Amino acid sequence: MTHPFLDLAPLSAARFASIEDRVARLLDTRQDIVTMQGEALLPLEGAIRSAAGPGTTALNVITGPYGQTFGDWLRDCGATVIDLAVPFHTAVTAEQVREAFAEHPGIDFVSLVHAEAATGNTNPVAEIGEVVRERGALLYLDAVASIGAEPVLPDAWGVDLCVIGAQKAMGGPAGVSAVSVSERAWARMAANPGAPRRSYLSLLDWKQRWIDGGRKSLPHAPAQLEMLALEACVERIEADGLNAVMARHRSAAEAARAGARALGGGLEPYVYEDRDAAPVATTLRAPSGVVASELVAQALESDPAVPLAAGGGALAKEMIRVNHYGVDATRGAVRASLAALGAALTSKGLTVDVEGALRAVDDNRRSRRAG
Ligand SMILES: *Cc1c(COP(=O)(O)O)cnc(C)c1O
Repeated sequence: MTHPFLDLAPLSAARFASIEDRVARLLDTRQDIVTMQGEALLPLEGAIRSAAGPGTTALNVITGPYGQTFGDWLRDCGATVIDLAVPFHTAVTAEQVREAFAEHPGIDFVSLVHAEAATGNTNPVAEIGEVVRERGALLYLDAVASIGAEPVLPDAWGVDLCVIGAQKAMGGPAGVSAVSVSERAWARMAANPGAPRRSYLSLLDWKQRWIDGGRKSLPHAPAQLEMLALEACVERIEADGLNAVMARHRSAAEAARAGARALGGGLEPYVYEDRDAAPVATTLRAPSGVVASELVAQALESDPAVPLAAGGGALAKEMIRVNHYGVDATRGAVRASLAALGAALTSKGLTVDVEGALRAVDDNRRSRRAG
């Protein structure tokens, strides 16, 4: 008996290349796309190890947990690393990046996360890209949590290595990811003796064995199911329209912030300023005396379908995440999340206004339509 997932015709090189071309269109880029057969951490690590080495002076911007990881990889490569850490309740500014360059003129590589699903903030990449370009440094961007939720434009912004994954706002699988690579980034890698070769982490292998040969034959058997899923989720975004998909995320985030403020009970948006809040996910600060992970566990008990999670690591005590991305980028998911949190807060003896919160979610929609 044939099985719909198992007995598939082999994925051709032409089909693989056409999926890459669709990803390039999604990013509005003319750069090369390297699709990697693994979760986004594969190209995130591969791109750093390919581009950075002992001669590199890297400015590593930390606005969430991934920045910490990038710094570790960079140091591991032998790079000199200047960490620019900002509190998780805000975003980094282009001015802070400019000051870092002024203080350390040798910086030739900048690593930055665009939106942080883990901390709920988003960084002004267009403005930062301008500063980085003026200084001639290479810009590496983790756009895993922003692609599909807000504009990601590597060419317009001067991003040299832009990594995306399908598992957040694209509503796809976690097992496949991609990186767009500028000519400058290829040159940097070619000049880096420590860049991985004959390795799963190697971007240069893909250039040599796939791109430079005109993408006629695949270097190894592709992860077929993941590639088909990537194709399907890009196709769905194209059908809905990227702008409509981004608008859904943006309005879910606005509704979550307005609803959380109206809910009360000591719950408040974790990211202070609306402009710093990521469209992909909204983080909330638990009321004092309430452990966020316990509150989330209780809310999930009352409604297991809501997209709630506690913050990772040490943030589990104070941070609640409303992961309104992909299929959950709806006002309904936000309403259900706030209702479940309201019930959990009430059972802890706190006074909340669930009706008011749900009204705020709906009012937010009306004011957007009027405006
Ligand atoms: C989700 C995400 C990733 C992918 O990492 P996972 O922890 O495996 O989901 C990478 N970077 C950012 C900014 C993300 O939000």
